[in-house]
Parts: sequence; C-alpha cells; structure tokens
Amino acid sequence: MNIALIAHDEMKNTMIGFCIGYEAILKKYGIYATGTTGEKIMDATELKINRVASGPLGGDQQIGSLVVSQEIDLVIFLRDPLTSQAHEPDIQALIRLCDVYHVPVATNLASAEIFIKGLDRGELSWREVRKTNSQRS
Ligand code: PGA
Repeated sequence: MNIALIAHDEMKNTMIGFCIGYEAILKKYGIYATGTTGEKIMDATELKINRVASGPLGGDQQIGSLVVSQEIDLVIFLRDPLTSQAHEPDIQALIRLCDVYHVPVATNLASAEIFIKGLDRGELSWREVRKTNSQRS
C-alpha cells in the first residue's frame, strides 16, 4: 500500500514532526510526496520518498493521477487553512478524486494520526481487496 504526503508551507514543520513520530509505521509503506514536502521529509528521516513535482507546479495533479490509477491508498494532505493558495483548483481536484475513488484523505494532523494508526492496525486492508477487484473488472 502507498501513502501520499503533502504539506503546505505553513504546515511543513507539522508534517516533519508527524513523519518523525510515525516513521516506524510509514517505513512499511511506499511513500509519495510533492517536491518540497518530500525533500524536507527525506532530510529529517530515513524514509525513502517517491517525489513528484512541487504542488504549485503540478504535483497535486500528479498525486491525483496516482489516485486514479489506484496506486495511492491514503492521502495525508496538511493544508494551510489560513492562507490562499495559487493552486487551489488543483487542491480541490485532488480531494475530489479521493472522494471519487474512496481514498481516505486527512487534511489536518488530528485526522492524519487516526488514519495512520488505523492503517497500522490493518483497518485499510479493504483497499487491497478493492484494488484486486477493480483489476479483475
Ligand atoms: P510542495 O507542494 O511539497 O512542493 O511544497 C505542496 C503544495 O503546496 O501543494
């Protein structure tokens, strides 16, 4: 299973703290991240990250494309709720695709912690069944 990690600038320190705190769980999964978020996580942890473009340069859309192709099972997207983003349409599009494809998406630290603990307990294993079924059809 694969996890996508994205954090807006004001939320990057929160994301780094999250990745340090949950590194033991995160390292069991494939990790994708937008450019700058991925770079900062790699600097702070031993996690191997598949980096896409920076969010404002199309990275959110690339993650969206991976959601469509069923390669992402959980999105942790720490959005900055207090700053407007030039790429707001891309952000909305990614969240919409998560809804279309039933991909859990956490947009703040409180939900991210619940999701990562749930993932570790096997509560997202239905994603693998779903992927297998969609590959058959
Ligand atoms: P970044 O992109 O990780 O390249 O900063 C995140 C975003 O702003 O969507």
